[in-house]
Amino acid sequence: MHEDIAAIRDDFPILSRSVGDEQLVYLDNAATTQTPEQVYDVFEEFYAGYNANVHRGIHTLSHEASVAYEEAHDRLAEFIGASGGREELIFTKNTTESINLVAYGVGLNELGPGDNVVTTEMEHHASLVTWQQVAKRTGADVRFIRVDDDGKLDLEHAAELIDNDTQLMSIVHVSNVLGTVNPVEELTELAHEQDALVFIDGAQAVPNRRVDVEEIDADFYAFSGHKMAGPTGVGCLYGKHHLLESMEPFLYGGEMIRHVTYEDSTWNRPPWKFEAGTPPIAEGIALAAAADYLDDVGMDFVEERENELAQYALERLTERDDVEVYGPPLGEARSGLVAFNLDGVHGHDLSALLDERGIAVRAGDHCTQPLHDRLDIPGSVRASFYVYNTTDEIDQLLDALDVARDELDSHLASEQYHDLVY
Ligand code: PMP
Repeated sequence: MHEDIAAIRDDFPILSRSVGDEQLVYLDNAATTQTPEQVYDVFEEFYAGYNANVHRGIHTLSHEASVAYEEAHDRLAEFIGASGGREELIFTKNTTESINLVAYGVGLNELGPGDNVVTTEMEHHASLVTWQQVAKRTGADVRFIRVDDDGKLDLEHAAELIDNDTQLMSIVHVSNVLGTVNPVEELTELAHEQDALVFIDGAQAVPNRRVDVEEIDADFYAFSGHKMAGPTGVGCLYGKHHLLESMEPFLYGGEMIRHVTYEDSTWNRPPWKFEAGTPPIAEGIALAAAADYLDDVGMDFVEERENELAQYALERLTERDDVEVYGPPLGEARSGLVAFNLDGVHGHDLSALLDERGIAVRAGDHCTQPLHDRLDIPGSVRASFYVYNTTDEIDQLLDALDVARDELDSHLASEQYHDLVY
């Protein structure tokens, strides 16, 4: 194992726990990454040192909490290349809430019959369901950019779909099933040529590569803390400042107002206008520590490492003739995950058998049912990697596939089981 990786693994004590009698092999990072000491120590520092509500008190603890919380916004803005700092960076609960914030703020207010939203066939339900429901309520259409057989977006189709009536394009930066890295800059340019706003779901991108929202020229960009070595309960929404200024709030309540009378209210400035009620204070501060941690490791290194692990896994999986893998073929850029199926074995059975060996993967539709329909499969098994994973762990996964194959062949190779799977 590379010396750096051993040192990185030491920062994540959970990686040395066992599952039953086996050493944990954690390959479910696209769902949630593990959290290093440097990040969860922040919770102890906060709760033992300066726990208080923000923005409401004149006392020292409230002041300290407010400063740390506000600076955390600046840190996350910097992490994704947003030069406007905190005024362009809203803390939400997660990517899902960030998408809903834009759907309520822009979608429900701006869309109407005759308008369309352009999205892709590879969206996570967080975005797909949201735009679908906004479209139902406003009378707008949703159009889906096709995914080709290599798991890539058909850019000619995108150019046909984006037209004068496109108010918004909502695309995923990196697919959580195919691992495809979409050409978001090119697509954003196409959408802007038609004066459409661009929302990007970066849940699988920000953890794994250097993202610069200004280079992409995204109008809105969302991601989650728990997928980037940060805590659960906090996510981010970037928005260009002038758009956040003019956008309607999503949630009403304390903190987000400027002046309230019995008759009417006015709004605070961004980002506080979009952070009603007590926000995720400790979580936000810990997320800034996660950004520091990732920058210390180096985002270029994280990206390189993930690509290496994905290529290795792909190579080993495609050697087998009983495995089908999805997404861009070997040698092409992809994020650190591989979704696959082992011939004749239901994903949930495989996942349970792998768990008996301490290997954590995910099986199911990964919140992309329409994409699985498009691939004509009921579900898939997804192994997803982070900077701390090793090729040894991938070898263990592959060895376990053989064992699983044998066990299932002997116990379940009945016609009845085959009928259940297919
Ligand atoms: N979009 C993508 C591409 C994702 O992978 C996920 C998480 N699986 C989400 C959105 C939703 O993230 P969250 O559950 O943190 O809101």
